[in-house]
Amino acid sequence: MTATIISGKQVSEEIRGSIAGEVRALAAKGVVPGLAVVLVGEDPASQVYVRNKEKACHDLGFYSEVHRLPAETSQADLLALVDRLNRKGDIDGILVQLPLPGHIDEKAVINAIAVDKDVDGFHPVNVGNLVIGDDSLLPCTPAGVIELIKRAGISLSGKHAVVIGRSNIVGKPVSLLLQRENATVTMCHSRTERMAEIARQADVLVVAIGRANFIDASYVKPGAVVIDVGMNRLENGKLAGDVDFESVKEVSGPITPVPGGVGPMTITMLMQNTLIAAKRHHGLV
Ligand code: NAP
Repeated sequence: MTATIISGKQVSEEIRGSIAGEVRALAAKGVVPGLAVVLVGEDPASQVYVRNKEKACHDLGFYSEVHRLPAETSQADLLALVDRLNRKGDIDGILVQLPLPGHIDEKAVINAIAVDKDVDGFHPVNVGNLVIGDDSLLPCTPAGVIELIKRAGISLSGKHAVVIGRSNIVGKPVSLLLQRENATVTMCHSRTERMAEIARQADVLVVAIGRANFIDASYVKPGAVVIDVGMNRLENGKLAGDVDFESVKEVSGPITPVPGGVGPMTITMLMQNTLIAAKRHHGLV
């Protein structure tokens, strides 16, 4: 039996369609959502991500500013730019592309972004609000994972979700969001013993470890939903997930591919966050 493929590309296009519609309605009221992206240095992967974000803004009718700064930019200069963007009326969302060069304290930069413009959802106040269940700007990849599951018509309430990976940007927030959806959540990490045994108890398995094709069919209960967050560049230049898609799809239920699964959702959720921030700034929600 081969599993149903959950297409992040398709879901992402649906959501982008409705965002574009909302942007047109806002434009009629004189409101244009604005996103500022800051890139420090010339990391090739970051350059691609930033270009994709710029393109998404253009395609959806957002105003966008991209600030490309040299790798040797001082922390003080970067903080001064963030401060200017915090006060700019035409900017609703600010994203500082990570990782930053080693001489810059990432936490200091994230903490400097205005909470209501933190469209990456990494500011400690937004993280805290997520933990206590208050309204906040949600981190994009975890929010994309939940949106994909919901739009695939999968109910999470009462289900056992196992998350492999406990990073601040994926594993931890995705666990909190799954719990918010009333799943019973187990988290695994590099010190977990008998991980395959635990993973095989999952109705929904979310994997974010950064190891190409690591999770094979021995980790998957027949029929379980499998969401692969991993994005690993192989030596041959191809992109691979953390899940060995070919073997796992023979036992799993609905499964996300890489590429074309969680990846496209991340930028879409960033655009959604910027739209939400813009509506809040103009008192429209
Ligand atoms: P990370 O910060 O390196 O965290 C990896 C996590 O996986 C850690 O919690 C680590 O455990 C755990 N881990 C590593 N090896 C393991 C193993 N053998 N068994 C069990 N747990 C293991 O990575 P990340 O930022 O969360 O990213 C994870 C993956 O998602 C990467 O491939 C990344 O490229 C991808 N990603 C994709 C998107 C997207 O838009 N689709 C966005 C973000 C990340 P410890 O805590 O014990 O070290």
